[in-house]
Amino acid sequence: MINSETILVTGGGGFIGSAFCNYIVGNLQNKIIILDKMTYASNLNSLKNIIKNKNVFFIKGSIGNKNLVKNLLRKYSPQYIVNFAAETHVDNSISNPKDFIKTNIVDTHQFLETVLQYYQKLGKDKCSSFKFLQISTDEVYGDIDIDEKPVDENSPYKPSSPYSASKAAGDHLVKAYFRTFNFPGLISNCSNNFGPFQHHEKFVPKIINNILNGKKIPIYGDGSQIREWIFVDDHCEAVKNLLKYGKIGENYNVGSGNEITNLELVKNILIVLKTFSLVKTTNVNNYVEFIDDRLGHDKRYSINSSKIKKLCNWNIKTRFEEGLNLTISSIINSRREIA
Ligand code: NAD
Repeated sequence: MINSETILVTGGGGFIGSAFCNYIVGNLQNKIIILDKMTYASNLNSLKNIIKNKNVFFIKGSIGNKNLVKNLLRKYSPQYIVNFAAETHVDNSISNPKDFIKTNIVDTHQFLETVLQYYQKLGKDKCSSFKFLQISTDEVYGDIDIDEKPVDENSPYKPSSPYSASKAAGDHLVKAYFRTFNFPGLISNCSNNFGPFQHHEKFVPKIINNILNGKKIPIYGDGSQIREWIFVDDHCEAVKNLLKYGKIGENYNVGSGNEITNLELVKNILIVLKTFSLVKTTNVNNYVEFIDDRLGHDKRYSINSSKIKKLCNWNIKTRFEEGLNLTISSIINSRREIA
């Protein structure tokens, strides 16, 4: 890998999955099979530049649909599977955990089961190079104090929200299938992503859109929660590297090292918007309103990503301001298209 192999990308109509498909089609010659249920969170616009490519095949459907997945695997014989499919918005997991349990645990389990049955029938050659990469999150580790060291891959899972608990359960299933059935699964635990085509319910697009719409940005608690922000293309490159170099049965943290508070994030976005002449002042207080803290809100996420760096020399390439620039430009363009 990774140049000519067939890759099944689930959740490829969502924010990171579509960025990964664009990244692969732009840089390599792989055949890409996209399987996506097309929930409210998906956006076909994010695939518009590649959807007509002869190497890209899009199928609408769920990872939990056994027959559909079985037929797909038989038809396309992928060598790699990257599972981005999930319910992902923490706030929704608090108001309606059920969908999260269904997709991130029940459907993920059915998917593992179907892929395992396919894998067990593969010939020796194909079997040895087959990999299933479960895309997970740093949120499974729960939060840490300001003075604590970043968590590494040996740190315990301590999820706080129904979202992170459901992702943790999916990860445990992948690990258990590896241990019990020699299933060729590995897991990446990435920090908070931002970039073009992220759903407007997520924090970065919400900040940008609210500022542009003259609306206050709701900030949970006092805005001092810390997140480690990574530009989505840097995550995609890590995923590509893990398909090639990652060892089955292992977890890999993927982070930028760029830890900032939610209020600092707003400030950074305002600074970039000022360079576009879209705001007059970068005084955060003019733009935010503080609201009751999110239930179970994690204070700080911070991950140690030295394992993947050592494995394959991966590191982020996009400076934070540059990533914000690209994100803001994309939002401005899509607002113009709609207008
Ligand atoms: P997203 O919500 O933008 O996209 C998820 C996609 O999965 C959607 O297109 C949806 O239609 C699809 N989907 C949902 N249920 C499905 C099912 N049963 N079968 C097939 N497709 C289904 O999410 P995202 O932000 O792109 O996140 C992708 C993955 O990365 C998730 O697993 C998430 O946990 C993980 N992750 C996200 C972040 C982040 O900051 N966004 C950080 C770390 C890890």
